[in-house]
Amino acid sequence: MQPLPTPHRTGWIEVVCGSMFSGKTEELLRRIKRARLARQRVLLFKPRVDNRYDEVKVVSHEGLNADAIPVSSAAELLSLAGADAGEAAVVGIDEVQFFDADIVVAAEALASRGMRVVVAGLDQDWRGAPFGPMPSLLAVAEYVTKLHAVCTRCGAAATRSQRLVAAEGQLFVGGAAEYEARCRACFVPEAAPR
Ligand code: ADP
Ligand code: MG
Ligand code: ZN
Repeated sequence: MQPLPTPHRTGWIEVVCGSMFSGKTEELLRRIKRARLARQRVLLFKPRVDNRYDEVKVVSHEGLNADAIPVSSAAELLSLAGADAGEAAVVGIDEVQFFDADIVVAAEALASRGMRVVVAGLDQDWRGAPFGPMPSLLAVAEYVTKLHAVCTRCGAAATRSQRLVAAEGQLFVGGAAEYEARCRACFVPEAAPR
């Protein structure tokens, strides 16, 4: 009988998803902090479009924060992380839904190179539709965590982000003044066609 082959040292993808205020950023920062405690080299990225709280920090709604590298595209992220090949054990990305489909290829390339890739993002947009690259990321990830906020109307587990102000497009970055967490029953889908 042949002995089992020795497992390869392999990377993987972790996705943390959920609605706004569900604690995605807190969870990402918790995982990043623990990796640093384990003395692993970490690179933390954010899309440049998300400058709500800070240009170069990932910041949670409670004010938890960590320094991050703002990038404009998946290619930029890949070149920065790639220049670091062999060093960074963990790559974190917040607000990953704002990237295009190239982020899926980039995350897979980094994981295949042996890195642990932890991404956090909204699984649904303000209409309740799947957000950008999230469906693909969820499909190719080894580990998926879906978090829930508290519905501001009834206290149930919230899975949706209700937009409270009129604004155009999927990409409208906001905070508590513009969005609130709602459950399926309390969410009012936008009537306007996409
Ligand atoms: P996300 O990244 O998913 O938008 P954060 O990690 O930035 O969420 O923030 C989570 C924090 O938001 C919670 O710890 C809590 O203090 C705060 N928060 C505000 N509104 C809500 C809500 N409706 N449900 C849950 N948490 C809320
Ligand atoms: Mg967040
Ligand atoms: Zn509700």
